[in-house]
Amino acid sequence: MHARDSAGPSAQYPIARPADPGAVAALRQLVRAARRIVAFTGAGISTESGIPDYRGPGGVWSSGRPPTLGDFLEREEIRLEYWQHRRDHYPAMAALEPNAGHRALAALERDGLLAGIVTQNIDGLHQKAGNNPSRVVELHGTTHLVRCLSCGTTWPSEEIQHRLAAEPLPICTLCGGDLRSATVLFGEAMPTEPLRLAIDLARACDLMLVVGSSLIVQPAARIPELAKQSGAKLAMVNREPTPLDKIADALVRGDAGPVLSAVAAPALRQ
Ligand code: NAD
Repeated sequence: MHARDSAGPSAQYPIARPADPGAVAALRQLVRAARRIVAFTGAGISTESGIPDYRGPGGVWSSGRPPTLGDFLEREEIRLEYWQHRRDHYPAMAALEPNAGHRALAALERDGLLAGIVTQNIDGLHQKAGNNPSRVVELHGTTHLVRCLSCGTTWPSEEIQHRLAAEPLPICTLCGGDLRSATVLFGEAMPTEPLRLAIDLARACDLMLVVGSSLIVQPAARIPELAKQSGAKLAMVNREPTPLDKIADALVRGDAGPVLSAVAAPALRQ
């Protein structure tokens, strides 16, 4: 595994864990009372689409130290392996479909309740589910674009994918620089613009709905805390405990798909 975007599709997460109905009802009430919800999502919202999360089974964390930007730039064999992996696995990643959790957030946006999504994911599934791309802030970039590390030009990943049959190590056609997917690597600073947009959303929401994130990766994990400090309610939907559970106004331990579907269903709102 070489990067945040190298986790391939998998069928590791078939189990549905029933959530406590009382906790779901409490969350539904918060959603009902809110006027400007912002969702903060992590790898957990996409496990039900078949993408392993970071620290779960099949995730990067369980298969060795993730590579850094330095590794990538300094070692040609790492770049070769990266592109070979991408040639073989990107098509399956691009074919993945959003699940009930993604669709529920799209429904909340259609209903005028969801102002935006701040995501740590690079899989593009929120946009595929129907959320307006201009309202999805991708803190760690996207796997669906490839960027030149020297001049910054980007291409659709699909276009570079076609070149991989003949070029095991594609380079920038404009400046000869190294190419990589447009995602943030370990050792690389997070781009400032998405972070600024995320901070603005956090400061202006009245409910921050955190879904499927361990809240360990910084500085991303500071965003929900900032929302709470700015006066918003904080709700968590996650399979496991997180460091912010103690300040949450609603806490649902369970799977994102069924929980968010129950919360977003129009019939359940006033
Ligand atoms: P993480 O792996 O650290 O934590 C995921 C959390 O989601 C865990 O606490 C887990 O218990 C929970 N979870 C798993 N499946 C769930 C489900 N169905 N419903 C509810 N909760 C569920 O992920 P993170 O906090 O996003 O941080 C990891 C980093 O990995 C991010 O920076 C992200 O860029 C990257 N990543 C992205 C993807 C993706 O794009 N889909 C996949 C793997 C890793």
